[in-house]
Amino acid sequence: MNICSGALLSGALLCGVPGANAKNSMESAYASLPAYNGQDLELTVDNSGTHFRLWSPQASAVRVLLYSTDRNTAAADTLEMARAEQGTWTVSVPRQLYGKFYTFQIKYNGKWLDETPGVWAKAVGTNGQRAAIVDLASTNPSGWENDKGPEVKNINDVIIYEMHHRDFSVHPSSGIVNKGKFLALTEQGTRSALGDKTGIDHLKELGITHIHILPSYDYNSVDETQLPSNKYNWGYDPFNYNAPEGSYSTNPASPESRIREMKEMVKALHDAGIGVIMDVVYNHTANNDNSNFSLTAPGYYYRHRADGSYSDASGCGNETASERQQMRNFIVNSVKYWAEEYHIDGFRFDLMAIHDTETMNEVVKALKGVNPSIFVYGEGWTAGDSPLPVERRALKENVAKMEGIAVFSDDIRDAIKGHYSNAADRGFATGKPGNEETVKIGIVASTAHPQVDYAKGNNSKFAYASAPTQIINYVSCHDDLTLTDKLHKSMTGASEEDMQRAARLAQTIVFTSQGTPFMFAGEEIFRDKKGVHNSYQSPDSINAIDWALKQKNADQFNYYRELIRLRKAHPAFRMTAAEDVAKHIVFDKVEGDNLISYSIKDNANGDVWKEIKLVFNGSDDPREVKIKKGNWIVVADDGKINADGIGTSKGGKTIVAPRSALILAREK
Ligand code: CA
Repeated sequence: MNICSGALLSGALLCGVPGANAKNSMESAYASLPAYNGQDLELTVDNSGTHFRLWSPQASAVRVLLYSTDRNTAAADTLEMARAEQGTWTVSVPRQLYGKFYTFQIKYNGKWLDETPGVWAKAVGTNGQRAAIVDLASTNPSGWENDKGPEVKNINDVIIYEMHHRDFSVHPSSGIVNKGKFLALTEQGTRSALGDKTGIDHLKELGITHIHILPSYDYNSVDETQLPSNKYNWGYDPFNYNAPEGSYSTNPASPESRIREMKEMVKALHDAGIGVIMDVVYNHTANNDNSNFSLTAPGYYYRHRADGSYSDASGCGNETASERQQMRNFIVNSVKYWAEEYHIDGFRFDLMAIHDTETMNEVVKALKGVNPSIFVYGEGWTAGDSPLPVERRALKENVAKMEGIAVFSDDIRDAIKGHYSNAADRGFATGKPGNEETVKIGIVASTAHPQVDYAKGNNSKFAYASAPTQIINYVSCHDDLTLTDKLHKSMTGASEEDMQRAARLAQTIVFTSQGTPFMFAGEEIFRDKKGVHNSYQSPDSINAIDWALKQKNADQFNYYRELIRLRKAHPAFRMTAAEDVAKHIVFDKVEGDNLISYSIKDNANGDVWKEIKLVFNGSDDPREVKIKKGNWIVVADDGKINADGIGTSKGGKTIVAPRSALILAREK
């Protein structure tokens, strides 16, 4: 769409003049539109009736179409809206229209555009085509008023488990009834055919503190009328930002069903002491000219190139414009809504650097106002270039400008396992030299440390985090190869046992590093995705976790569980100030590649352990290190771990087995 083809504001654009001047005049025209930040946008129902208010400053007329069903019927009524303050249009009906559906339609540039449920639909019918008028209080599960997520003082006390609803429950081995649904996470006591815990019981057994659910707002790709065909999608194709996805509900045609079932999921997890983090994708929409943004305020919510075409920092065909007031309001109010209405405990921002730092700071401020335990993290990069100046982007390199926000460390990710997009490339844990300094950057959570030389870093060349609470450490996620597949593709010829050792070493580095650990669901039982790196629409046969693996790889599961227990028991792994990291972490001089040895000293962060010694050997060979003489507890050695200790050591010359972590601790 060429934005110049529409009269944005009469007389504000010099149409037919491409280039920077046209773009600048577009920008100033958008900037001159009045913003509206009231909490009553689109729909409110009270004792006086049902009230509609659409923000559509460029429209010449706006109407509401009322329906008695969610699709396939003609409008039962049409209401003309009247111009109101700050670019909005309003109309009221003196009755509570619960149970009805509605859409908006705007006249723009002399033409009626397609109908849209608006951008603020909090309830929708099948495929999100029509918004629904629902009494939200009626969707609350019993006890909802007392529902609360886990208290979080610092984000790095959290252990994040990233999962997709279908991956987690859809496999026949899950023993879960509501496969691929929100309700899967409400089922207690589920077991695999082999008797292992699955579902919420599995999460409790593993010990993670929060699940991060892949996009669960209403997305575009899965046809909600064809659920038996079991189509799969990650959901990074937003359609309605403020209503849950219908395919995860038991009945997409019932607007209440998806809302109530998602709340029931949140409540069951909260009752189990587990928090819920939502993956949010405000950076782009599934559609361009036909998105709900475009159909309510054409052009306004997006960035454009000088020729008027959509700019595309998302790699998905468009990018939103968080620097414009109404878009910024939208993002801030939307996350606030999820926090208030659904009791969401954290937000993961997809391609966060498409947003500006000011918007992200406002997001954090608003969320902390709802609940101080809420935290925010995101991908500190874009997928393509953006018209937004680099210094304004919420990049990982700009994270110091965003207090209370954390970014994924691609530094530690690629250094441990090898480059994410080069399948055969190895990393520190799989024997490739040259990644040691970047792993150290990960260990100190990208904060300034006197013994870490950022010039030797593979990715970032400076200490970009102002505190370890600004870093999310991980070795894999839903994107790219799973850790298991990466090891299969890079450790060619190695045994399965060797690969599992490498996985343990990799996660030991992640879970003992400063910052917040993040893991991909199922890696604790060595799940794979049959080598598919971009499984966003692959079938369940690729994406589903086979829970029989929990028995087959029981040693792996037990290792992960102990690793998590170790981290939770010891605040030394969870320092909150960069100065403490610089003071308490001391790296040892070691000979040769693929070997890192360091201590966390002097009861760091109030730990009962005076000193923790960690040695990581990513090479194929056993390596000898010198440990200070003393009374050490052996916590991890040769692919085994126990947070209470697996033995003792007097120190001195010590062999560290190939591809393994040695962890020792002493109280005196
Ligand atoms: Ca949908």
